[in-house]
Amino acid sequence: MTTQDPRWQQNVFVGGQFRRPAGAAAIGVRDKASDEVFATAGLAEPADVDDAVEAATAAQQVWAQRTYAERAEVLRRIAATLIDRRPYLRELLIRETGCIAGKADYEISAAASELMEAAALASRPSGEVLASNHAGRLSLSERVPVGVVGVITPWNFPLVLGMRVIAPALALGNAVVLKPSPETPISGGLAIADVFAAADAPAGLLNVVPGEEKTGRRLVEHPGIAMVHFTGSTKVGREIAATAGALLKKVSLELGGNNALLVLDDAELEQATMIGAWSSFHYQGQTCITAGRHIVRREIADAYVAGLSARAAAIIVGNPLDPAVGLGPMINARQRARAAELLADAVAEGARIVTGGPGTAPYFEPTVVVGVTERMRLWTEEIFAPIAPVLVVDDDAEALRVANDTGYGLVDSVLTADLARGLAIARQLSAGMVHVNDATPQDEALAPFGGTGQSGLGGRAGGDSNLDEFTERRWLTVAGGPAHYPY
Ligand code: NAD
Repeated sequence: MTTQDPRWQQNVFVGGQFRRPAGAAAIGVRDKASDEVFATAGLAEPADVDDAVEAATAAQQVWAQRTYAERAEVLRRIAATLIDRRPYLRELLIRETGCIAGKADYEISAAASELMEAAALASRPSGEVLASNHAGRLSLSERVPVGVVGVITPWNFPLVLGMRVIAPALALGNAVVLKPSPETPISGGLAIADVFAAADAPAGLLNVVPGEEKTGRRLVEHPGIAMVHFTGSTKVGREIAATAGALLKKVSLELGGNNALLVLDDAELEQATMIGAWSSFHYQGQTCITAGRHIVRREIADAYVAGLSARAAAIIVGNPLDPAVGLGPMINARQRARAAELLADAVAEGARIVTGGPGTAPYFEPTVVVGVTERMRLWTEEIFAPIAPVLVVDDDAEALRVANDTGYGLVDSVLTADLARGLAIARQLSAGMVHVNDATPQDEALAPFGGTGQSGLGGRAGGDSNLDEFTERRWLTVAGGPAHYPY
């Protein structure tokens, strides 16, 4: 594999250059299936963040003056380079995140799509001409770049979750300092930097400082960072919101979820169990848009559980370099142990495992659990593992109440043969995203992605929402004649 590329081994990416971090320390990157350390990234210190912000500040001032056509051209070149590197990035994502090839390919295509949509965003109108109460006054609401955006990303979809912020931020005239998760510093950061360098993107526009909490904190606090975009856990998001609040800094948070899949009595069974399995088991259940709660009408519950369990039992679990495998390893031992604990707690309180269970490390078998109650941690907390807890309800009103009884509000799905009934229920669900007759994991570059409550704060990622995310409004007037004031 070509991950031994010396350009980024042990390095950070600052001002268009790969270089050693200030402390000369490195992050060993594990293949999540074999546990082999197959690459190293530089471990950025706060001093590297300072250098990165300085480089980004200088680059942003020049970049914001470039024409939209020039900015769009750079973004299209980056997209083309990214696609050219698909085989390399695919293997990297498989090893670094423990995902199957299909998920890796999805990430690469989605990241390219983010870049192409962002290229189009660059030429969107940059403001409006407003009516004015002052005769002859030209009154403009003009969009201006925010400045340097600090981006902090998680490990689960490191390439696309970085790119969905980097691409629109750059399109609208900003520069970025990116801190990827220490679990995925390459596909989440240095490999992206390498694509930028190969596409001849202007130096300093994207800087990558892989690191841990200390590095993230410095990025959030740095006075040169005008805005922080964070994707990750609700716990860390809360801390970042508090820091940004004290500093009166713009912040956008994409956080966790505990998403519900509502299966109504008239749902088509084969479809429902397929959607249920995909919603809970894709990428080992390690996504914010995984279904963590299956709310099923009693009339269909037994058949649904049987069908879902049969699908779960048929999934091949193992090293995802093997193309037959459907489910790879858990990201790390800590996440796996936490999921096993949630499961054991539920069983101790009366739940029953129909199929699956923790299995053998580093894997976790796709698991279906019945007899779950609303008080169990398995029901109330974000699980982040391939576990499908099923709770049976007697009518649609109860299904709605149970679905909305969560502090989170990321995504829900409702399955029914009656579209009017599905739509009516969808409109009463409190999540930021709702799908009728489809799985909870959905994402399109043009759609507003994001949640309510503990699932997010700030705007939405995607499409026109990005205009509001990555620009400030400036009210600009030009007087129509001489001014007259009392003194
Ligand atoms: P995490 O919150 O532990 O870490 C996310 C990032 O924050 C990492 O880069 C980490 O190094 C950094 N970080 C940790 N502590 C920090 C601090 N105090 N200050 C600044 N940065 C800090 O999350 P994770 O385990 O990497 O990812 C899983 C979580 O992400 C889940 O809760 C999942 O739901 C959420 N997520 C949300 C979305 C979304 O779009 N809503 C998408 C993917 C994942």
